[in-house]
Amino acid sequence: MGQDAVEANDESEDIELNDDELFPSLCMDCARHPSVKKLVAQDCTKGRCALCARDDVDVRNPQNLEPLVMVIRALVRFHYDEQDYNPHWGGESVMSLFYDDANLIVEPPKSNLYVDDFDEWLNWPVYPDWDKGIAMFAGHDHGDRGMNFAISRTTPPGFSELQARLLTENFFQVESGLEDYIARFINDIEAMLPQGEVWFRARVGETKTFHRFSIDSMETMRMHVPWLGKDIGAPPPPKAGFGRVNRAGVSVMYLASDPYTAVAEIRPHPGHTVSLGGFRSKEPIRLADFNPDIGLFSQSDQRLSLYAIIRAFDRLMSMPVTPDERTPYLLTQLLAEVLLRHGFDGVRFRSSVSQGSNICIFYPDKFEFVSDHSEVRQIKAVAYEIEPVHSALAKEPGDMPFD
Ligand SMILES: [Zn+2]
Repeated sequence: MGQDAVEANDESEDIELNDDELFPSLCMDCARHPSVKKLVAQDCTKGRCALCARDDVDVRNPQNLEPLVMVIRALVRFHYDEQDYNPHWGGESVMSLFYDDANLIVEPPKSNLYVDDFDEWLNWPVYPDWDKGIAMFAGHDHGDRGMNFAISRTTPPGFSELQARLLTENFFQVESGLEDYIARFINDIEAMLPQGEVWFRARVGETKTFHRFSIDSMETMRMHVPWLGKDIGAPPPPKAGFGRVNRAGVSVMYLASDPYTAVAEIRPHPGHTVSLGGFRSKEPIRLADFNPDIGLFSQSDQRLSLYAIIRAFDRLMSMPVTPDERTPYLLTQLLAEVLLRHGFDGVRFRSSVSQGSNICIFYPDKFEFVSDHSEVRQIKAVAYEIEPVHSALAKEPGDMPFD
């Protein structure tokens, strides 16, 4: 009998080994979203991909698929309404989303051989516990069948409540409510900006222009002198108007990750010249990052609900300021003060006008002006195409007088 048992074990081990070898996963090439690629790279092995059906490619370890599956589920929940994929609401299937080449998550399947495996990961378990996984579907048998809306377009209820309170209560009455609201994720969104990193500001106009004769082209060129130093830096408190993350009279420094974003964020009109300037961090900067990796929040619906709040703040901060719409920012202005008391130097949020990002630094002195990025650009089109013009920091001998 003992021997039978051993033989049976041997046999089942053989079968398991074969299954392991054949169990498909997702390859690096078929992962599209950076957070999905990151999960493949994190536990990578040679194997078979369910979407392109190739063997011996770099895939996520098929024995440890859950974190990868959950980040894919989280991304579906972030980008899509349930009606896009739930047959009860007129959709087809979660898998059908990935046949659309416009999806940001994975490459469309190149073979249908193993697509059923992929489909199963997306749908099973259907309703993991709130703190143990991410459900694709909102609800089932509680009598009130609900529907999930894309997290990227949904304002969490607590968020709207705080915004509403700020319309009838003073900010200091709402402060402790906001404090409690963000306490659940405040430690998850810290991002350090290294010392010596250069970020950009833009300001419409220029200090002055003058003419310079070019021997090369035998032409007289109009030279543009950009705003420099304090003239392109953060305004002092008496001159500081309200912004997305500051009340009027509070001097903060808004910076962009690249020159294009800096220009687009100030929304100049065609024909305007715009000065650009670089500012370098004098020390490591502790930021609250409101566009963190979704992979940090894709372990469970509980975590994903925190990501939804974080991105709601991000959307609000990314919105362009218009003078007649100051009330939405009461919440993010108060947020800045709470973060300040928690030791943050600033916040990072996406740009709604470019692929870049913005930061708002609570202590402008933590950045210094560096002149090597100063130049003047001219706005060519309403799409904010920006073109370099001849620029100089100062006149040189032989230059002609200012305009
Ligand atoms: Zn593949």
